Amino acid sequence: MSISSLAVPGIRGLTPYQPGKPIGELEREFGLERIVKLASNENPLGASPKALEMVRQILGGTHLYPDGSGFELKAALAEKLAVEPAQIVLGNGSNDVLDLVARVFLAPGLNAVYSEHAFAVYPIATQTVGAAGKAAPAHDGSRGPRFGHDLEAMLERVDAHTRVVFVANPNNPTGTLLGRSELHAFLAALPERVIAVVDEAYFEYAHAPDHPNALEWLGEFPKLIVTRTFSKAYGLAGLRVGYAVSGAEIADLLNRARQPFNVNALALAAAAAALGDVEFLEATVRVNDAGLARLEAGFRTRNFDYIPSAGNFVSFDLARPGAPVYEALLREGVIVRPVGNYGLPNHLRVSVGTAEEIDVFFAALDRVLGR
Ligand SMILES: *Cc1c(COP(=O)(O)O)cnc(C)c1O
Repeated sequence: MSISSLAVPGIRGLTPYQPGKPIGELEREFGLERIVKLASNENPLGASPKALEMVRQILGGTHLYPDGSGFELKAALAEKLAVEPAQIVLGNGSNDVLDLVARVFLAPGLNAVYSEHAFAVYPIATQTVGAAGKAAPAHDGSRGPRFGHDLEAMLERVDAHTRVVFVANPNNPTGTLLGRSELHAFLAALPERVIAVVDEAYFEYAHAPDHPNALEWLGEFPKLIVTRTFSKAYGLAGLRVGYAVSGAEIADLLNRARQPFNVNALALAAAAAALGDVEFLEATVRVNDAGLARLEAGFRTRNFDYIPSAGNFVSFDLARPGAPVYEALLREGVIVRPVGNYGLPNHLRVSVGTAEEIDVFFAALDRVLGR
């Protein structure tokens, strides 16, 4: 009997999440010194200095278990978001929270609905617990932004066994954004037995006047869960901290399945400090706006189609397979993200970097493509 046949069926069929290539790995492989990583939507400004200062201050306390209830971070979040602490569930990154949702609300015989090209963690979390994932085709461009979530198609996939729908807004890796009225109408149309997860990992970058803040709807939709993270705009990806906000009853259920110390002490303290660092957040958004414009201008100049993005990354269409170009860029010391596993084999996703990093990326791209 093979060892893999002993694993539960959901795990046997699972393809693991493919993270962006770590800088250290590329250094080891090619002996490169100057590496620009634009692969994981990290903050090009680094972390909030206030968060870093806090980490330095509390390093000496690492022999103590963290506060498993996350009291201070939850209090800070509750005040900022105008919710009750009992509505918040902290996670080891928001991926942890997405996993909790799957463990609490999904099981074999049930299913989750999400969109084609949506964030890879949704199918992984779903399959891990033996539930079925149902991907609805994305917009083809005729009724909504191409590659974006088609909420009507998602609704059509919801059946009697659907317990969770995952909506990423904006979505990664497409950067596509759903407007207020369409997302609201979708939530209102869901059957009562369905938990709606609106993943707002990029919320802090929001600008568009029509950008929804799903937290505003928690009172109206008791089965809504909104997830956010400190990994992107707050620059704390390496510390792993994210959260869900929902009604208190859902939060209680999620907290039952949560590991008692899922968020470490450094992450808890750093996140609370980062939350108050308004200056850093403003600088982050400024740099991102400028970088997005620079990337989009570069793609236009080179005649590449790109997907207009509401996040801190852009996926562009090479009009040929992206994987070899990705590999060639690695040799130039530039790490981007191939998105073939997202059903976008001709696209590459580039995170917004500083102006200099973006210029390094385009120079490398031009060399690789012989332009
Ligand atoms: C980056 C990202 C997350 C956040 O992941 P963390 O676990 O918080 O680092 C969640 N959802 C989407 C769509 C993302 O792109």
